[in-house]
Amino acid sequence: MTDTIKVTKVAESKISDVDFSKLSFGTVFTDHMFVCEYENGAWKKPEIVPYGPISMDPSAKVFHYGQAVFEGMKAYKDDNGKIFMFRPEENFNRINKSSERLAMPAFEKDYFFDGLNTLLNLESDWIKPGNDNSLYLRPFVIATENGVSASPSSKYKFIIICAPAQAYYSGEVKVLFADQYSRSADGGVGFAKAAGNYAAQFYPTELAKKRGYQQVVWTDANTHEYLEEAGTMNVFFRVGDKLLTAPTSDRILDGITRKSLIELAKSEGIDVEVRPVKVSEIVEAAENGTLKEMFGAGTAAVISPICGFTHKDKEFDLPKLEDAYGARLKQHLTSLQANRAEDPFGWRYEV
Ligand code: PMP
Repeated sequence: MTDTIKVTKVAESKISDVDFSKLSFGTVFTDHMFVCEYENGAWKKPEIVPYGPISMDPSAKVFHYGQAVFEGMKAYKDDNGKIFMFRPEENFNRINKSSERLAMPAFEKDYFFDGLNTLLNLESDWIKPGNDNSLYLRPFVIATENGVSASPSSKYKFIIICAPAQAYYSGEVKVLFADQYSRSADGGVGFAKAAGNYAAQFYPTELAKKRGYQQVVWTDANTHEYLEEAGTMNVFFRVGDKLLTAPTSDRILDGITRKSLIELAKSEGIDVEVRPVKVSEIVEAAENGTLKEMFGAGTAAVISPICGFTHKDKEFDLPKLEDAYGARLKQHLTSLQANRAEDPFGWRYEV
């Protein structure tokens, strides 16, 4: 614990009311949250307080102009009760990159790490051991200045809330390759974890769901010829024995799972190619049987296998593989994250 943070503990933990065997992702939150306010050009002393509602004026800018960014990260526990995070510095750098694009102030590194360390030690009982268990951490920043003039806020709140998570099973995932709507555009905010990016996807994703597809794989807004990423995941394609994924750009989120999997796969001797992936080549590979796997990669789901896709009127189902790269890489990554496998990369961060 550190004296940079004022800690106010709850009188009684609510953990005994929680059924850890029936958690629905991101719906149950721990006892405490981290809060830090920005005012007069500086972040003030952070606090950890009991989890609960925050009160804001209806004119606060976040409600009108969506000046809000967030992160998603996880903490894990090993069999000896030690707590770990996975590449948290990447999340720190990314939230500040997102903030910069939305004209929001960068957060303080010491506050971020002291906040997470203090919060995780306080909420240790909420983190269960086992590769499939974790504590999902949601840092976010919102514009809190009152007034509806369309200009950047001078006041912000940086908050971290925590939700215990189990293995994420989303059922059979079939995806639609976007050919009409777009998630992001050149020079836009696609690379940022800006709240509005997610709101903008809800409508086209609902339309896809009505047609039986759980997710949309977005294509480039200019031509719809290149596959980019899914709503909350980067996407990998296995053609033959080669793993393909698109390069990141200002339209695509620089996913930490994605970049870790690229290195992990290479370390396992898998041939990985990071290059623009054409819709037409994936359709062709599906037609000639060389498309073996597709999967999404992100913090929440880790790796989510995709069992089929549709592009325009063509629908394809993928074969079920015994030795899927996705399953193998997921096992490797989750073991590494929870201190059950070697970490030659130095990705694990002990709390
Ligand atoms: N793309 C988008 C749009 C996302 O929201 C996420 C989740 N953060 C990802 C990809 C995966 O990123 P990460 O592996 O860092 O969770």
